[in-house]
Amino acid sequence: MRLTFKEIKDEISKIVPRDIEYKADLEAGDIAIFTNEIDKFVGSEGLAGKISKKIKRRVVMRPNAEIVMDKEATTAVINDLVPESAEISELFFDPCIWKVIIQCKNPSEAVGRRGAIAREIRMKTGWEITVERTPPIISKTVRDIRGYREANAEERRKLLRNFGLNIHRPKRPGSTWARVTALGSYQEVGRACHFVTTNESRIMIDVGVNIASDTDPMPYFTAPEALPLEQIDAVVLTHAHLDHAGMLPVLFKYGYRGPVFCTPPTRDLMLLLQTDYLKVGGSEGKRAPYDMEDIRMCMRHVVDVDWNQTTDVAPDVKMTFSNAGHILGSSAVHLNIADGKHNIVFSGDQKFEKSWLFDAANTRFPRCETLVIESTYGAAGDYQPSREEANQELQDIVTRTLQRNGKLICPVFAVGRSQEVMIAIDDLFRSGAVKPVPVWLDGMIQEATAIHASHPNYLTSALRKSLQQDDGENPFTSPWFRTVEGAQRRESIVMDTSPCIVLATSGMLNGGPVMNYFQNWAHEERNSLCFVGYQAEGTLGRRLQKGFGEVPMIIDGRTEIVKVGCEMATIDGFSGHSDRRQLLAFVDSMNPKPRNIICHHGDYYKCSELGKELRDKYRCRTYAPKNLETVRLL
Ligand code: ZN
Repeated sequence: MRLTFKEIKDEISKIVPRDIEYKADLEAGDIAIFTNEIDKFVGSEGLAGKISKKIKRRVVMRPNAEIVMDKEATTAVINDLVPESAEISELFFDPCIWKVIIQCKNPSEAVGRRGAIAREIRMKTGWEITVERTPPIISKTVRDIRGYREANAEERRKLLRNFGLNIHRPKRPGSTWARVTALGSYQEVGRACHFVTTNESRIMIDVGVNIASDTDPMPYFTAPEALPLEQIDAVVLTHAHLDHAGMLPVLFKYGYRGPVFCTPPTRDLMLLLQTDYLKVGGSEGKRAPYDMEDIRMCMRHVVDVDWNQTTDVAPDVKMTFSNAGHILGSSAVHLNIADGKHNIVFSGDQKFEKSWLFDAANTRFPRCETLVIESTYGAAGDYQPSREEANQELQDIVTRTLQRNGKLICPVFAVGRSQEVMIAIDDLFRSGAVKPVPVWLDGMIQEATAIHASHPNYLTSALRKSLQQDDGENPFTSPWFRTVEGAQRRESIVMDTSPCIVLATSGMLNGGPVMNYFQNWAHEERNSLCFVGYQAEGTLGRRLQKGFGEVPMIIDGRTEIVKVGCEMATIDGFSGHSDRRQLLAFVDSMNPKPRNIICHHGDYYKCSELGKELRDKYRCRTYAPKNLETVRLL
């Protein structure tokens, strides 16, 4: 049963004793309770748990503003109560939700026995305490976002309340229905964008850019379903890659002012990638369709949602993220529509195999009638080698190249594969299989790695432990990894004749610093070029894979022909996408099985071949729609 905000308030008043003063309010999909007596609500026997159970919503406790200490006084209390042995490195204040993050070397010392210190700070100052371990490498992006949130707390508080009011608006009469419209990434890879419409709500899932196309980079924003943009109820993001989140700022540029639901790592990585997209576009003389102010606007509208935390995103839609195994924070999106009358899962990009970084994609959804699944490697014969084989191939090409005194260029996405390849190289060097050489990281890879280190809960337990123990085993801080800072440094590496490995963006050789190394080193036989990720049609990477022996490139404003004389290899086993076998295994382990499966994120053959196999196996209805087609769900 769907409760109005008034009914929710009535339910709460039946639970809270009359002598406790409080006020119930809205904070996006959550119910916020403001009170001076937080101690009566929190804890295992507290009122908040009872309320949450009754109204079936997350309840967050907030102090009334008048009892909250200011930042300086709170800092003094924290320094007074937290023992020095905790080794505090930084405090981050978010006055929008009255929360302080204490970043320190020894979290257990800061929390105190059974959370006693954290509790005492909260009772004295009003601020809720989160304690986190100081990561081994510090991310500038994470620090910037936290600072930005502190500075914009007032505006964010109003926004979160408005999002809540929109979610709890009066019910619209009439029968329930739902449908999904393809606005991008259907029968193609790139510009992922799905649009879910019900009789009450309009939700956009992913807002990607088509990286391979300069002329047609945007999803179909002009389709009547999506217009007017300012009346979309919510945007939900599966992950931060540009082909899923790169066009989000455009929505804000053209008037969207609603919430963007995503996981905290997606928020951080998205800021990094969108900002870089502007920079790279600018340096190549192409104008990105938005600017930094649009990105900032979009950051202010982000609502963080962790995996497995259900939240309302629209009047008749609840949403839950779960691990998709593809990149940091990547998620499948489960939508429960109209009190469970229909459940739809968007797989996002996904990997159904445990990697060094991430667990295999989650397959346990309470219910799922429709699955929208990626089909990047969905065709018959799209099988990838295992991680072990990939490691072996990498070892072989590294060994061969270094024996020739050559240099190895790996074009990588800053996010996902580069960390996976770093871990594999680290392993080769540590085990003694290959003698270490400098490994240069160029183009945000170090910063992306730092963001990984800031979100240990989104990594495999083994990597999380190694990061937390800081025992020298953590691959991200090994001495052979060196960051390229600035064009001058890049120039000197290009000129240097000694062997080395370079991991540089972009992953498909369609811009970014990797172009510099490629232009200068590709002609030499002793060097190697090694692809570790998907190369989309229309990119330079794809043309090279097809065997082009020379390619025209624009160097210093002039078109020049670059001859390709180096060894070239593609290692498929590092892919962040499920291969055909894994896609089938993913659906196989879903229980119950979806009745409808919609295939996207692959060309027509990949989508229809995957669909055919699934149809034969599970007797479900399958679809491989074109962009702009709509499938009715309910
Ligand atoms: Zn992706």
